Amino acid sequence: MDRAERRSPLSRTHARFRRRRIHPEIQNFTILTTLNPSTALAMPPTAIEGDDPNVSTDSNSESDDSAVVDFLYSSVQTDIMLDGNDIPQIDVDQLILLQNMPPLPIEYRYRLPALPLKTRRTPSIALALDLDETLVHCSLEYFPNASHTFSVEFQNDRYQVYVRIRPFLYEFLEQVCDSFEIILFTASKKVYADKLLDILDPKRRYFRHRLFREHCILINGNYVKDLGILGRDPARTIIIDNSPQAFAYHLDNGIPIQSYFDGETDDELIQLVPFLQSLRYVNDVRPFIRDRFKMRDIVGPISDGNLLDLTDVAADLL
Ligand SMILES: [Mg+2]
Repeated sequence: MDRAERRSPLSRTHARFRRRRIHPEIQNFTILTTLNPSTALAMPPTAIEGDDPNVSTDSNSESDDSAVVDFLYSSVQTDIMLDGNDIPQIDVDQLILLQNMPPLPIEYRYRLPALPLKTRRTPSIALALDLDETLVHCSLEYFPNASHTFSVEFQNDRYQVYVRIRPFLYEFLEQVCDSFEIILFTASKKVYADKLLDILDPKRRYFRHRLFREHCILINGNYVKDLGILGRDPARTIIIDNSPQAFAYHLDNGIPIQSYFDGETDDELIQLVPFLQSLRYVNDVRPFIRDRFKMRDIVGPISDGNLLDLTDVAADLL
């Protein structure tokens, strides 16, 4: 039993997914043909809403703590690992999900942006950051080296949340906050994430905006982050997330980052700074993100109709 498995039922869920990790060098065709074809076909019809505690997901169905799932949702989503060349290693569940994303329903393509309009002082590139397992790891189970603890009231119960901050988080934020419009974009509930961000960024020095679960779209049991809701130029929008399904509609805008659970030597965030800074000088970030992280190559055959080109939408908004 490894360290993750010893920690908790939720951690065992993570470990279960890790054991099924697949390297992208394996052909997608091989992966899919070794699975029961009904696996992909059995996915439920697209469900679209923002907040249904009864929704069962693949990753939470074995969890022993449904309360955790409900406001700290992203802590039990599948996560991602990167190899030595920053190429993501995607597990079977993620791959099937990414390859079978339904087109985003038309009503979501023309939602009004959730963010206020940019001002002249707003940096030109929007940088959306996921929260759980990207910036922090939180748990309802005690761990001794928690950076912070706070309580959350949820469904008439009060929960103590233990927070572990990813190493170099503040060094990372210091280096990007003046050059990028930083936006928190989490699939967790506001009742939890807002409180946590008040602790992490009490003076609102780093994060200019906060988007929560209600800003995500629930598709096939996963909260997907449609970047169109930012109302920013898609050529100058980036999202960093440990769950690639979160940016399934924007593979060229998404920077996958290895999930953080513990450890003091993790330097994934700070390692991204040179690449991010280099994107400040390009007209369109997407070809550079695509070339570096190769998400399109990894996902393989996917209908272009299922990848959103926000250009037309943005033209109406900008
Ligand atoms: Mg996450």
